[in-house]
Amino acid sequence: MAHIAFLGLGVMGYPMAGHIAGAGHDVTVYNRTAAKADAWVAQHGGAVAQTPAAAAAAADIVLSCVGDDPDVLEVALGADGAIPAMREGALYIDNSTVSADVARKLAAAGGERGIGTLDAPVSGGQAGAENGKLTVMVGGAQGDFDAGLPVMQCYGARVVRMGEAGTGQQAKMVNQICIAGVLQGLSEGLNFAIEAGLDTDALLEAISGGAAQSWQMVNRGETMVRNEFDFGFALDWMRKDLRICLEEAARTGAPLPVTEIVAGYYGELSAAGHGRNDTSALIRRLRKG
Ligand code: NAP
Repeated sequence: MAHIAFLGLGVMGYPMAGHIAGAGHDVTVYNRTAAKADAWVAQHGGAVAQTPAAAAAAADIVLSCVGDDPDVLEVALGADGAIPAMREGALYIDNSTVSADVARKLAAAGGERGIGTLDAPVSGGQAGAENGKLTVMVGGAQGDFDAGLPVMQCYGARVVRMGEAGTGQQAKMVNQICIAGVLQGLSEGLNFAIEAGLDTDALLEAISGGAAQSWQMVNRGETMVRNEFDFGFALDWMRKDLRICLEEAARTGAPLPVTEIVAGYYGELSAAGHGRNDTSALIRRLRKG
């Protein structure tokens, strides 16, 4: 069993770290807001560290699941960051959704010190994290992937290596681009049904078995009809993710016309105070009541 450090015990990190501890690993946690780390240790055992560096110093594998680019750079490479404190031969796995550029920066900084790095963003939401069934898209060297796989499998049902550093983040961008278009289409379809006076239960029963079926339709269709959005994947996180997609597309030259429009819609919803709503709240812009 390995010595593990886990940095960032948010909606995702808290249960992910719990699954690693549940598999028998020796886990030290760090969270910026200390109360969450204390609660985690009270529930799962292990130890609390006051800084990422202190958590990482004795670890074989360090994982982080924080927020945006500056947050990962802070916990990994900042003043009390993990990577400068890690021992040679250890492995850093970042599960946050950030730019491919940050993944490459971590790989370069780790490489200089003989530390392996993996960008390993996840998909599957809070429920996937809680039941340990996330999809994990991984960028990094094959040897580092092999070393990190048993730990990633503690919280991942599907763990796929995409290629070198940054490709895990690029795969997650594809995931978010696909979700954005599907959710806008589903919003338009369901709002159309409501305006037409259709029985939406019957409608969802019918079309969720056909070619229009999607995870969003199956898991969010009924709540969208009921105007329930106070759960799930906060649309402010999605705004961040789509910003990252658009920045990457500007570099590669891939057009993202629908993604750009949907990113604007999420901006409107956030400005209206709905930033913590689930991403399915796109339908709010269309609903009359
Ligand atoms: P969250 O609940 O807001 O938690 C964020 C965590 O990161 C908290 O522990 C927070 O500490 C910590 N953090 C943020 N900035 C930090 C900084 N500068 N220094 C130190 N710690 C910092 O977020 P989440 O939903 O778990 O999401 C985490 C990552 O996973 C994000 O990149 C997100 O896009 C991605 N993701 C989320 C979902 C989802 O459904 N929620 C799904 C897939 C991927 P405090 O407790 O002190 O605030």
